[in-house]
Amino acid sequence: MDNTNQSISQLLEEVQRLQAGLADIKLMTEKLTAELYLSEERFSLAMRGANDGLWDWNLETDEVYYSPRWKNMLGYAENDLENTINTWGNLVNPDDKDRVLEKVREYIDGRKNSFEVEMRMHHKDGHEIFVLSRGFLATRKSDDKPLRLVGTHVDITERKIAEAFDSKYAEILEMIAIGRSASNIYDAIALMYESRHPGMRCSMLELSGNKLLHGGAPSLPEAYCKAVHGLENGPSVGSCGTSTFTGQRVLVENIETDPKWEKIKHFALPHGMRCCWSEPIKSSSGKVLGAFGMYYNYAALPNEKELKDLISAARLTGIVMERDQTQKRIRTLAYTDELTGLASRASFIQHMEEVTKTSFRHGRRFGLLYIDLDNFKSVNDSLGHNAGDLLLKTIAERLRNTCRDIDFIARLGGDEFCILIEEVEEDYAANVAKRCHNAISQPIEIYSRKLTPACSIGIAYYPDDGRDISSLLKAGDTALYTAKGNGKNQYAFYKMELTQKAEYRFQVEQSLREAIEKQQLSLVYQPQIEVNTGRIVGFEALARWHHPELGQVPPFDFIATAEKIGMIQSLTEWVLRTACSQLVSWREKKIHMLRMAVNISPSLFLNKEFASLIKRIIEEVGIVPAELELEVTESIVQTDPRNLSIFENLKNLGVSLAIDDFGIGYSSFASLKHLKVDYLKIDRLFVADMLADKQALTLISSMIEMGHKLGYGIISEGVENSEQLSILKNLGCEKVQGYLFSKPISAAKIEKLYLSKSAG
Ligand code: C2E
Ligand code: CA
Ligand code: CA
Repeated sequence: MDNTNQSISQLLEEVQRLQAGLADIKLMTEKLTAELYLSEERFSLAMRGANDGLWDWNLETDEVYYSPRWKNMLGYAENDLENTINTWGNLVNPDDKDRVLEKVREYIDGRKNSFEVEMRMHHKDGHEIFVLSRGFLATRKSDDKPLRLVGTHVDITERKIAEAFDSKYAEILEMIAIGRSASNIYDAIALMYESRHPGMRCSMLELSGNKLLHGGAPSLPEAYCKAVHGLENGPSVGSCGTSTFTGQRVLVENIETDPKWEKIKHFALPHGMRCCWSEPIKSSSGKVLGAFGMYYNYAALPNEKELKDLISAARLTGIVMERDQTQKRIRTLAYTDELTGLASRASFIQHMEEVTKTSFRHGRRFGLLYIDLDNFKSVNDSLGHNAGDLLLKTIAERLRNTCRDIDFIARLGGDEFCILIEEVEEDYAANVAKRCHNAISQPIEIYSRKLTPACSIGIAYYPDDGRDISSLLKAGDTALYTAKGNGKNQYAFYKMELTQKAEYRFQVEQSLREAIEKQQLSLVYQPQIEVNTGRIVGFEALARWHHPELGQVPPFDFIATAEKIGMIQSLTEWVLRTACSQLVSWREKKIHMLRMAVNISPSLFLNKEFASLIKRIIEEVGIVPAELELEVTESIVQTDPRNLSIFENLKNLGVSLAIDDFGIGYSSFASLKHLKVDYLKIDRLFVADMLADKQALTLISSMIEMGHKLGYGIISEGVENSEQLSILKNLGCEKVQGYLFSKPISAAKIEKLYLSKSAG
């Protein structure tokens, strides 16, 4: 029994101990549960505190749990997305998806020992957010296969935007450092601030005098930028016009209602702009250079961050603007000559480089005029430097007035000037040289002293005289020294023969103006013979010019010059009067012939007043219209059909018409048949060739045949021998003219000829 009691009490003790143990266990369990609960709560608290979303991916079932915060981060409520499949796959940016899944695989395979990845996800509102996802394998089964991947999502959008902003900012600083163009940088600055504030649009205006000029505004409509470009600033000219005027920040909450926008809101409202905040852009010394503007499509005032950005944007732009203006000033200083305002040597060289390139590409010529004042030093020495400066300014002004806008004039230094001329016509550079010469040598009064400046000009051509800048300048310089060496106040080409040619042409031009007055012109007459009878039936009057220095100037030269300088009408009038008067005077001396032929330039022939000019002369001089024959070259045949009336008017007048130099213009007989003319005058080139060249003969014979068929008479000029005459006679040519009968001779000689004949 004792044993039994002992064992019972032992058992009780044991039970008590067990009970105590159980209580302990219970206590421990409770404690553990509480701890577990606590830690879970702490975990979730920690998640919430850290603003993290949770996800839990069962790799076997492919089910994923998303915590409310996870959804919330993307704009969804706690209960949203419950029954959707492939939730993440639909929300992640497709461009990021493969990269993220690859990271998952790497981690699960054990190739990487952590999982952390950034990705872009679609927010319910439509915008994108940046997410940092981190995870770890939560459970592994006994076979070591991964079961769950658990992780967090953190919204890192702000940080990403800040990072992008910082790198953009660094990029802009780099752009400034390497000297990119201001307008490029302005655009970059605008885009940078716009990317930081979705919906914002930025603009930069530059103040020039009191005008606002477009600086940069890549996101504002062009129509708006154009409308405000050139606007004058003032106390209430929008936000930027006002801020540049006052030098103060101007925050306009609503463009529609703010009085400062009253006058110009119609520029902005159609483009949706509703608020505009403007910060003056200032230089380091505080001068207002422009204004930075920020716009939204809704009425608002800036929040703290926007205001900070507005100020910093204006400051950053200020650095660029100030630098740009300084550079522009330096460039102006380097590229213009301060005294005269002409281009400087540096800019001349630069321009020449460009023109050389384009001329090479297009196979064009250009001329270089190298001008140097004669005796400039003596002006400086005797009248002082101020007088010298005044003279240089005047010369510069004269050059400017003499040249076309596209001629590039520069002062190379001292009293040296250069003009680059992209030629339009052959003689243009020489003409400019001549005109500059004349302009410069006009008298000028400086400090009550009358001066007559003079200059020497050297002319060189690209590519003839030099293919690169230095050789071309050298050629110009050489030509200049030639001009100086020839006795100053002259111009000279690099190629000597060009100088002589140009000289001659100018002299012809210059002297021709006075040739009529000075009675240097005269006429010679060449008889026209009727083939059948051998009788003189008329004369062709040919102009002659004897110049006291130039000697006998060939008619081809002075006729062309007369056309060029607008003298052909007065010259022809003189010829007509002289020739017709000669007819009258011969008639009085009983010298009778039928006709006087006078050459008429096509330009004059086509002049509307021409027929009445002829009529007037005929009446004034008193000849019968049929006694006058007008020779006009074949080029007239291809003329505008409207000119046909000219032929008609002249025919009505009763004068005879001949087509001169016929055959060399290859005009078709078809076009000829409309013209009412009397004679075709076969050019002397055909006549000269007809004996040696069968083709020329064929041509002449068919010209004569066709001409006859169309009802024209035929005259052949340049007949020098009897063989030509007999062939022409056989072909039926009515009239001939040429050295075989007589050279063109003076009226006096003709009279002598007649008198001796009649005497004999
Ligand atoms: P054109 O009208 O063809 O004149 C004929 C030219 O041939 C003249 O040259 C004449 O001297 C030349 N000639 C005459 N017979 C012969 C010959 O047998 N053999 C050769 N080789 N030549 C001969 P010129 O007088 O030197 O005149 C040249 C051109 O000048 C004329 O060519 C004409 O186009 C123009 N011209 C002359 N006078 C006047 C004028 O008063 N007004 C206009 N508009 N042009 C004129
Ligand atoms: Ca003629
Ligand atoms: Ca001729």
